[in-house]
Amino acid sequence: MSVPLRIAIIGSGPAALYTLEHLLAAPGLDLEVDIFERLPTPFGLVRAGVAPDHQKIKAVTRAFEPLLADPRVRFFAGVEYGRHLTLDDLRQAYHLVCFATGAQSDRRLDIPGEDLPGSLPATAFVAWYNGHPDFAGLQPDLSCESAIVIGVGNVAIDVARILCLTPDELRRTDMPDYAIEALSTSRIREVHVLGRRGPVQAAFTTPELKELTTLEDTALVIRPEEAELDPLSRAELERSPDRTLARKVELIQHIAASPPPPRGRRLYLRFFIAPDRLIAGEDGRVGAVHCQRTRLVETPGGGLAAQPTGEEELIPAGLVFRSVGYRGRPLPGLPFDERLGTVPNRGGRVIDPATGDPIPGLYVAGWIKRGPTGVIGTNKPDAAETVRAMLEDAAASRTLATPRVDRAELERLVRFRQPNVLTFADWQTIDRLEREAGAACGRPRVKLTSFEAVLRALGRSPAPA
Ligand code: NAP
Repeated sequence: MSVPLRIAIIGSGPAALYTLEHLLAAPGLDLEVDIFERLPTPFGLVRAGVAPDHQKIKAVTRAFEPLLADPRVRFFAGVEYGRHLTLDDLRQAYHLVCFATGAQSDRRLDIPGEDLPGSLPATAFVAWYNGHPDFAGLQPDLSCESAIVIGVGNVAIDVARILCLTPDELRRTDMPDYAIEALSTSRIREVHVLGRRGPVQAAFTTPELKELTTLEDTALVIRPEEAELDPLSRAELERSPDRTLARKVELIQHIAASPPPPRGRRLYLRFFIAPDRLIAGEDGRVGAVHCQRTRLVETPGGGLAAQPTGEEELIPAGLVFRSVGYRGRPLPGLPFDERLGTVPNRGGRVIDPATGDPIPGLYVAGWIKRGPTGVIGTNKPDAAETVRAMLEDAAASRTLATPRVDRAELERLVRFRQPNVLTFADWQTIDRLEREAGAACGRPRVKLTSFEAVLRALGRSPAPA
């Protein structure tokens, strides 16, 4: 009797679920797939990262749900790799293991004052307003009048926009109650978003910029002199194969040339300005950010870097968000590239850095494979590449040893180590309860934001894990 190909996927965000989708679609395969998720709920950054006022993007979960309901698939939530399951456990139970754990930490600025109270990673704030159980207690102090967001990627734009939403706009989102309440009573009147390079190099995309012009009570302000292109930027724009870039620059220049509408809040989108230290106020919390104006210079590698001009600027702010990128965390038992914050791999096959050879049976997908870049859909071709490698290796018997622990035994082990384990049926109940609670107050859903709250809603009392 042939043994089904047994596969474990660690994580249940888009990279994990596109990996699952490609595996299930592979013709003629006898498969059994187990998904292990650390949090009590599935979907990774779709639930805990995508902005709560972007419900259309969050709707991608509808395409993921049938995958988790497939009879070949088991979903174990609340199970943490490295805590409830080790690499050794996985080696005994599966032919192939794919890690899709994302980038769970943030990049640092490495400037003085970065860790002052009131200076937060944007990633933590995003997780807080999305009800991520690890960040529900963040309590950002929104009692100041001015906030700064460092970086001009889409996360920076999300954070700036969320800080500017009116109570009405907030109530249309699936933000948890605590975030709606805190943001509705926020005293922040101005938000400064700081880009160290120019409009051509800005990492945000055009629809996200356009959205900032349609906020109910916020005027977007760009300085005309900062929207102008220097010769290096003009040359980069002309060379660029990205056809949307010219439209983005045009929009930036159009906003800069238009008088700001009379609205209660101001969102200043700045270019050519780089923070070099955070300065404490009298209360010991962050009080201002000291910046240097910059100009672009060519790097030996052919890129364009920001170089300080010597002109200084001090921007007062009681809250600072460092939004300079996510960063992957090492996974116990796997090699890790400290510089890139990723697991070394070739096309998804985990590589032993000492030999440069693939480690049989171990794979990566998503941000832990390629770094924190791209949108949700980018994970689809990324996962396809990993699945191709997995299936090629399975066909050539380059897998882990034949499993010695069967499906039922593995489940017993998981339940012994984590008695509070949750299943896909549990998620379906939670999903229904959250949506019903939302419908009662005209919101998409009201999220449960702790493991205990999820268990209580399911009528269970937490067992020590
Ligand atoms: P990102 O796109 O890589 O942007 C990082 C920003 O930080 C860049 O503007 C970068 O400027 C700046 N930065 C880096 N180091 C800096 C430093 N030391 N000082 C000042 N600025 C610095 O990262 P992200 O915004 O975290 O987004 C991650 C990914 O998720 C992106 O692919 C993004 O598009 C995606 N995402 C998409 C959406 C959406 O589709 N709506 C929403 C959120 C996130 P330089 O270019 O000068 O390095």
